Amino acid sequence: MTARVTVVGSVNADTSLRLAALPRPGETVLAREASASLGGKGANQAVAAARAGAHVTMVGAVGREDGEPLAQALAAEGIDTGLLTRSERASGRALVLLDDDGENSIIVVPGANAALDDAAVRQACADLSPGDVLVLQHEIPAATSRLAAATASAAGATVIWNAAPAPAHAADLVEHVDLLVVNEHELDAVARLVGLRPAGPEADVAAVAARLGTDVVCTLGAAGALVHRDGALVRVPAPVVTAVDTTAAGDTFVGYLAASWHLPLADAVRRAALAGALAVTRQGAATSIPTRAEVELGLA
Ligand code: ADP
Repeated sequence: MTARVTVVGSVNADTSLRLAALPRPGETVLAREASASLGGKGANQAVAAARAGAHVTMVGAVGREDGEPLAQALAAEGIDTGLLTRSERASGRALVLLDDDGENSIIVVPGANAALDDAAVRQACADLSPGDVLVLQHEIPAATSRLAAATASAAGATVIWNAAPAPAHAADLVEHVDLLVVNEHELDAVARLVGLRPAGPEADVAAVAARLGTDVVCTLGAAGALVHRDGALVRVPAPVVTAVDTTAAGDTFVGYLAASWHLPLADAVRRAALAGALAVTRQGAATSIPTRAEVELGLA
């Protein structure tokens, strides 16, 4: 069965610079190497869902002048880009600085991601059916995510909200969500925003699930994930791997989870955890996302 996954979210042009040490204020440093790639949580999750075997539609906005390579990179993954609109603003950009100690600093310029076209969002989400999955993150305006969630939910689709980066204001919270996916830091932020006093991941997933009326999955890096569904808590371990670069582990997890939504949740999470673990064994963001064949080999 081919899952249908629609992602409404960010698309960025990433520039990664490798340098000996991150610059201090006022300092100029030379980078050893620069590389450019497709990025943004929305695009990364769309790529992960497509590599997992889903039929994926990416709804977002890129610059009219500079967006074509980004649209082409998504299309090369088999992703439907018919509702990726062109904005007068420049495409979103991320500048990723990576030093020899494995530390990083990231600067994101939202650009066109701050101006998604409501009509395109409404059209994509109204067209969904029961069994289809909508995936949202927190790199586009919350009002756009709320419009997408309400429209998709009214159409009977499942809404997955990856609250990343961590929301800072109660106004950033999205309603009509079936499943909230967060890492520990984001769980803590959401718990505070709904008026809870954080008390550790196990207690917090249960409390946030009760407060928001959603299922909750919390990823725990090498420790796997906690799944809270219908009042029951399950811990799913991640395979033991040698981590090389943890970039996009969370995005890989979310994309695979969305593409595996037709499976029982614990099976979908096991698949997502394995895909996330494979992603950390390789350098890069989208380039590190494993294919379905690689994940099936690991599950066998
Ligand atoms: P984020 O990147 O959003 O902080 P996590 O670090 O929790 O997300 O990683 C997401 C998933 O990727 C984890 O649930 C786990 O399955 C996998 N993963 C991440 N880091 C490791 C690791 N060091 N070893 C094994 N699996 C990992």
